[in-house]
Amino acid sequence: MPNYCVNKNEQDNGDHEVHDLTPGACNRLPDHQNRLDLGHHSNCRSAVLQAQHTYRQSNGCFWCTPTCHTS
Ligand SMILES: [Zn+2]
Repeated sequence: MPNYCVNKNEQDNGDHEVHDLTPGACNRLPDHQNRLDLGHHSNCRSAVLQAQHTYRQSNGCFWCTPTCHTS
């Protein structure tokens, strides 16, 4: 199962992006100090739900979790 993180910093639109930490999956990962670890999830939907406990406006990264990217 991939390990996911969410960016502690919001994007211009207010989204906190959820990223797949699998090596090579994403080249837009936030800096280490800006990552909140979400643990292992079988899919990005579960990871985004977990992120929403902390950041209500969480969304999948366009690059590494496109199936969970909605805005
Ligand atoms: Zn990403």
